Amino acid sequence: MRQQFVAGNWKMHGGLAQNRRLLQDVLVGLAGVSGVEVAVFVPFPYLAQAQAALAGTPVGWGAQTVNEHPQGAYTGEVSVAMLRDFACRYVLVGHSERRAIFGESDAAVAEKFAAALAGGLRPVLCVGETLDQREAGQTAAVVAAQLDAALQRVGVAALANAVVAYEPVWAIGTGRTASPEQAQEVHAAIRAQVAGADAQVAERLQILYGGSMKPQNAAELLAMPDIDGGLIGGASLVANDFLAICRAAVR
Ligand code: PEP
Repeated sequence: MRQQFVAGNWKMHGGLAQNRRLLQDVLVGLAGVSGVEVAVFVPFPYLAQAQAALAGTPVGWGAQTVNEHPQGAYTGEVSVAMLRDFACRYVLVGHSERRAIFGESDAAVAEKFAAALAGGLRPVLCVGETLDQREAGQTAAVVAAQLDAALQRVGVAALANAVVAYEPVWAIGTGRTASPEQAQEVHAAIRAQVAGADAQVAERLQILYGGSMKPQNAAELLAMPDIDGGLIGGASLVANDFLAICRAAVR
């Protein structure tokens, strides 16, 4: 059985004092909770703080994006090796806010995905359709193309060291959640697409749901057969909400 994975995406939120309290509360709340993988994706400046607070605990940490180049004249960017310097285990790639606001194409996301894998990180590849695309009946095609760009770049075997997050754009930060059935349909399609290349990799692949997941809806989403955890934005900033979702994920 696949391990459930609950990850918090703090986005551009937080501050030293606030983070200290949040991480402390999460660690205290998770004491005695096992059977779920937990991580937080923090802004770059707080990676050292996350490392200091979380090293030796069951909670992992990572960054919210990464540059695909090893080093160079890329002002403002951060490399995989730099994330490794702060003992990151994970990194998000292709979050819809990166795609929409910062213009990251499927091809650019695939490069980041490949660089993260090559550097020993466990990337979480985010895919998902906009509301217009869903209403035009394009959900399956959009998600398949996003996944395919990464798959073609790294090959299916590399997915053994990666995670996929299905995040319908219309559900992110909107309070509007995909129904368990809507989410399951896309998750199953993602798994089937990977299975078309390698059934074993597909069976083991963790596919997270993200989009206004909260304590009130987590259990029913996480009960779906192809939903293996959650990528949590807003609710990950409130310790009790994040903890409630972690607990709902315990199998
Ligand atoms: C996200 O940012 O990945 C996300 C899912 O946000 P929220 O939970 O706030 O919708």
